[in-house]
Amino acid sequence: MLLLTLMTTMTCNMEAQRGTDFRYTDETFADIQMLRYRVDGFENLTLRQKTYIYYLSEAALHGRDILFDQNGRYNLRLRRAFEAIYTGWKGNRESKDFRAFAEYIKRFWFSSGLHHHYGCEKFVPGFSAEWFRQALQSVWQQNNLQSLCLATCAKGAPDGELSAEAACERFYQEVLPVIFDPAVMTMRVNQRDGDDLVLTSAENYYGEGITQAEAEQFYTQRKAPLDPQPIMTGLNSRLVRGADGLREEVWREHGLYGQSISKIIENLLLARPFADNEEQQAVIDKLVEYYRTGDLRTFDEYSILWLKETEGLVDFVNGFTETYGDPLGLKASWESIVNFKDLEATRRTETLSQHAQWFEDHSPVDPRFRKPEVRGVSAKVITAAILAGDLYPSTAIGINLPNSDWVRREHGSKSVTIANLTSAYSHASRGSGFDEEFVIDEATRQLIRQYGDVTDDLHTDLHECLGHGSGQLLPDTDPDTLGVYGSTIEEGRADLFGLYYMADPKMIELGLVPDAEAYKAHYYNYMMNGLMTQLVRIKAGGTIEEAHMRNRAFIAHWVYEHGKKDRVVELIQRNGKTYVKVNDYAALRSLFGELLGEVQRIKSEGDFIAARALVENYGVQVDAPLHQEILQRYEALHLAPYKGFINPVYTAVRDAQGQIVDVKISYSEGYDEQMLRYSRDYNDLPDVN
Ligand code: ZN
Repeated sequence: MLLLTLMTTMTCNMEAQRGTDFRYTDETFADIQMLRYRVDGFENLTLRQKTYIYYLSEAALHGRDILFDQNGRYNLRLRRAFEAIYTGWKGNRESKDFRAFAEYIKRFWFSSGLHHHYGCEKFVPGFSAEWFRQALQSVWQQNNLQSLCLATCAKGAPDGELSAEAACERFYQEVLPVIFDPAVMTMRVNQRDGDDLVLTSAENYYGEGITQAEAEQFYTQRKAPLDPQPIMTGLNSRLVRGADGLREEVWREHGLYGQSISKIIENLLLARPFADNEEQQAVIDKLVEYYRTGDLRTFDEYSILWLKETEGLVDFVNGFTETYGDPLGLKASWESIVNFKDLEATRRTETLSQHAQWFEDHSPVDPRFRKPEVRGVSAKVITAAILAGDLYPSTAIGINLPNSDWVRREHGSKSVTIANLTSAYSHASRGSGFDEEFVIDEATRQLIRQYGDVTDDLHTDLHECLGHGSGQLLPDTDPDTLGVYGSTIEEGRADLFGLYYMADPKMIELGLVPDAEAYKAHYYNYMMNGLMTQLVRIKAGGTIEEAHMRNRAFIAHWVYEHGKKDRVVELIQRNGKTYVKVNDYAALRSLFGELLGEVQRIKSEGDFIAARALVENYGVQVDAPLHQEILQRYEALHLAPYKGFINPVYTAVRDAQGQIVDVKISYSEGYDEQMLRYSRDYNDLPDVN
């Protein structure tokens, strides 16, 4: 599970340069601002550690094509065609069409595909179909057809018999509706209650024409009902229709995505001799075994080795991990992060995990749903060194893995908060004018200035270290019962755990907050975000789709409604603008506790009906006039609602024998430069997979 950033951190002002080579903020396009993160401490690592990180980064970047293909079956072909135009087109680059196209390809790169990374809706091109055809054709002619996509386009035609024009025309006819027709591949992940979620989602986890009922039946049959240690069935494969019915194409070496996976394996094995300890080498060996076999039992074994290895300085995630991109929540997108410990900040999360049992015992939930013994809650603060796959460029600020329920129950989990990303967000947010516009008064803004950063970090820690790891399912509850509402309920549960405890005197006792006022800054931000300001991420007329946004909405609206008669939280009008007013912070805490009890009950009992009611009643619908107002106020600030990160560049310095003698880090690569370099150097998969 991952935690995405709150809306409290946003802006567009340029930061002063720190050092010669580094700045926090970079270019802005569409609804996106690119940031950079500093890898503080990298220069002080040993050569061995730097070399380890270097090869792990290579293993990370080699998964890039996988995610593009997972996000849609045309994405790799389109990326290559778009890049050919972007780099090779000789026409007027100041024209309206080209400028719209340049923005489009930047969004396409950012999302690893045709659809918005967060809202999942297909991008609307600002250039004409005719311009696209002509640009593509002229680029192909320049390249004498040695170009991209030809293999695909010439499929079925004898060698050399397809003219440039004919090849181009065939490609064009195939992808035209994919790019330009709003009715084709409309949503990457459609979660609308009542729709056939598989048929109507454009992701590439299910073959064409496969229905939700078929997919659900296929996986229900494969579930071993009495297995106390069930594998995550369906996690690492595409479900396709074969001659004898449905079957899985497994993502593994020599299987689907085998070309990328071989490169990942190669670099993991190059990294292996430089690992911090033998346990890490065992982790790599098991991961390689899993990539070779695709066996999900091996994946669970790998996960256990991985979560238990907490001594090393360097760590990484590399694999098919999160299931947010599958409407059925079974299939995992590929992602990677390489990181090393931030020792100072790790002390904070260690304090929390040392007291994990205290938090579990005092949690405001039915005692039957508490874990009698909270095991292995390990937590640390890390410095990200590279982001890849589904963690790039848009990324999480905290990660809690593995996702397997039985592994978590029996072995615990590993939690990280990513401090250098959080700090890049907060640097970018200063002076944005956002709080001035949306926070009710100067006293509250002062509260947020004073405590906002520390409580934001603390909430992330509580969410990741304790929230996800807390509670237990009743023995006969199937972990998948909550279906499409599972992610939202789980994220809500972890958020509520953090919200409830943030206001606890225990926080002061443990030295995690300076005083009894601090939590109020976070409560205000959370309510403002959930009731109002997160709506800036949604287009007029839309509903809330993404799991984290839904959880924040259902929490904020539920406590708002349930505290209405006591006026705990109000929405008030001043000069025609709506503001959140919190009248009673202590009562707000009680409401968070009450809702935590209910959400834990839903999870523990697998109460699908209640999960659906909670999410659909409080987490999906948008108050249209309020939404309109928020969008207008936000627009006037000229801020980009989404952020993403440009990676640093690592360069290996080698001696005459090819041994790495140093690894240099640089922050000067531009966004498009980085994307084009990745497309060139990590170009592992064919057009069609
Ligand atoms: Zn989470």
